[in-house]
Amino acid sequence: MPDDRKKILECEDVSLGYDGRPVMEHLSFDVRQGDYLCVIGENGSGKSTLIKTLLGLIKPVKGKVILDKSIQNGYIGYLPQQTDIQKDFPATVEEVVMSGFLNRCGWRPFYNKREKQLAQNNMKKMNILEYRKRCYKELSGGQQQRVLIARALCAAGGLLILDEPVTGLDPNATMELYESLEKLNKTDKMTIIMVSHDIKNVVEQASMILHINNDEYFYGDVNQYIYSEFGESFKLGREKN
Ligand code: ADP
Repeated sequence: MPDDRKKILECEDVSLGYDGRPVMEHLSFDVRQGDYLCVIGENGSGKSTLIKTLLGLIKPVKGKVILDKSIQNGYIGYLPQQTDIQKDFPATVEEVVMSGFLNRCGWRPFYNKREKQLAQNNMKKMNILEYRKRCYKELSGGQQQRVLIARALCAAGGLLILDEPVTGLDPNATMELYESLEKLNKTDKMTIIMVSHDIKNVVEQASMILHINNDEYFYGDVNQYIYSEFGESFKLGREKN
């Protein structure tokens, strides 16, 4: 059956890299509304280069990334890898979440009513509303990640990009985060692109997989991946049986 969901991102025969030198060539994939795409690959395979390209921070060496207008001009919610500096951020949870709107405020020195309501909704979705007056740096790693995702949702037009969101989290916090993301994707129809090393959980979560390995890559749905050469190398197929 043809997939008639809207394509919100399209990469066709694109080469990614720096200063005219490709890290990865002939990459083709697309993301449709409601997809949950996981990007996996060894360190140095080009995952961050791909994310930087999707965010418009670097230009493709060859070809074009086409974004639907709903996610152009900074309307992609982005959760970068967490750094130690971010962990000590001296602000309340609510302030951190609201700062997701800063790009949209322009010169306006306050948040409007609609933004305040949206921030509340996003805190609710990420289960952090009860902590909204707490200081961000006093929260656990898992709670901090959920605050930063609520912040990213304030910027998101319909696409959320997460770079290794469960790294450093304990198993409970990891599962809680996955549950929140699954709800965002299934209930709120938020399109998600997640970079992850956590392949075993990724195949439970994602609908689509992009596995990159410098000069070759796999792109397809989870079932195709599990029985592909890429997936077989992780013995995923055997565990699924
Ligand atoms: P990953 O995120 O999968 O670990 P990266 O996208 O960071 O991989 O890196 C892919 C390749 O691009 C690596 O060979 C890396 O050395 C190179 N690379 C990363 N950043 C830059 C940069 N700013 N300039 C030039 N080369 C880079």
